[in-house]
Amino acid sequence: MCYVSRVDHSLSLPFKVLNPKVLGVKTTMSDQRRELLKHLPKVDDVLAQPVLKQWVGSPIVLKAVRDEIQAAREALLAGGKKAPTSSAVARAARKQIESSLAPRLTRVINGTGVIIHTNLGRSPLGKKVLDAVVEAASGYSTLEYDLGRGERGSRHELVTHLLTALTGAEDALVVNNNAAAVLLALASLAGRKEVVVSRGQLVEIGGSFRIPDICKASGVKMVEVGTTNRTRISDYENAIGPRTGLLLRVHPSNFRVEGFTEEVKLADLVALGEKHGVPVVDDLGSGALMDPASRTTLPHEPLSSASIKAGAHIVTFSGDKLLGGPQAGIIVGRREQVARMRKHPLMRAVRPDKITFAALDATLRSYFSTRTVGDEVPIWKMLEVKVSELEKWGRPIESALKSVAKSSGFVVNIERSMATPGGGCLPQAELPSAALQISGPGGMLTILQSTLRQANPPVIGYLRDGVFRLDLRTMYLEDRQTVIDAVRWALERMNS
Ligand SMILES: *Cc1c(COP(=O)(O)O)cnc(C)c1O
Repeated sequence: MCYVSRVDHSLSLPFKVLNPKVLGVKTTMSDQRRELLKHLPKVDDVLAQPVLKQWVGSPIVLKAVRDEIQAAREALLAGGKKAPTSSAVARAARKQIESSLAPRLTRVINGTGVIIHTNLGRSPLGKKVLDAVVEAASGYSTLEYDLGRGERGSRHELVTHLLTALTGAEDALVVNNNAAAVLLALASLAGRKEVVVSRGQLVEIGGSFRIPDICKASGVKMVEVGTTNRTRISDYENAIGPRTGLLLRVHPSNFRVEGFTEEVKLADLVALGEKHGVPVVDDLGSGALMDPASRTTLPHEPLSSASIKAGAHIVTFSGDKLLGGPQAGIIVGRREQVARMRKHPLMRAVRPDKITFAALDATLRSYFSTRTVGDEVPIWKMLEVKVSELEKWGRPIESALKSVAKSSGFVVNIERSMATPGGGCLPQAELPSAALQISGPGGMLTILQSTLRQANPPVIGYLRDGVFRLDLRTMYLEDRQTVIDAVRWALERMNS
């Protein structure tokens, strides 16, 4: 490690050759300071302290001890009066180890009002789904075992019957996410041939998924047709030739083109594909097994079953967007094309594990009754809950925090707000909602917001129009007291 050699040199070289900035000193080192440095604990003495015993032998402990000795050395060079004891350094090292071993993936309370929040883990899973995950993952399972025949089975058959029943497709396949589904579709159905796609559909989803890049990565040659706002069936037809491998349609899931626009209907694209013997792949992004417009004030999201009905050879969509399940890429479509995808060597690289299958299986089974979806799939519950109900459950938060807010110079209220589905579906759509609204001096609100992120569990809200809000639509009723405690804790800290 570089700092070790630098430190060693510091003891043998004349001090003036050292970089004073790094060492935090401006003048020469006195004999007295040299003497103090000699009292720094030795690495072995610190390692022998009981508080570090459980980690001895692990590289993490050596690094922490060296870091802390170095910090103590720098403190002395900066004018410190006394070298710490071995035991004090060991305690500091322990703190450092504990914080670096603390899990970084932790639960947070989502007060952003964005229901399918990609940065906060997209769809939370419901109790029934979690029970299924625990059941499948805490012991051995039938992941690839056929109980009837007593021999090897296939994980690809675990949810096929559910997906075909829900979408009307002939066959189905599951991969790790929708990006993998699109990649696999391109690689296995188009090979190294050309993929024809409209210029209006060359979308980017959250930075790392861009249609042109996915085409490149899969080895196909992308052929763009039409313009940003208008693409006609003749544009596709003119581009089709002996090198054409497939026609790709991509749902513009996170933006809207308005005005002078024209798009080709999926059924027409399928008819064209059939005429020329090339398959049509429809990347729906979120897709939906149930139309949000039928249950909420939200607009329509394309149904996976509609794409199947329109004849698409392959339809792909995410497991953790409007489906409300685990991260997964769902592939449904015609028998021949699904079989080709299943047999492709990439399939092995993108196959999901038992945890995904257990969660997806339980989520899909909820969809066979419209009542159970609302009860068992958390995002549907969040999408459907009435504003009046949110206000009702927010009142106790408001009254619990009124006085502490006042004494810290803030005002809390339950107010109407706007939530969004998020997650790359229903772009710009909003849902009326209710939020705990906190107003106060502007600079203080920013501090309050960051203090709440340090709460345990962290509470994530947003600042807009000079007020801080915690939207109730994305929170759980069970967390109400936790939210009250966190906000009270944060407000009290602002006061001190
Ligand atoms: C979200 C999305 C993807 C990527 O899906 P992941 O499940 O996040 O991999 C691909 N295509 C479209 C149109 C999307 O909206």
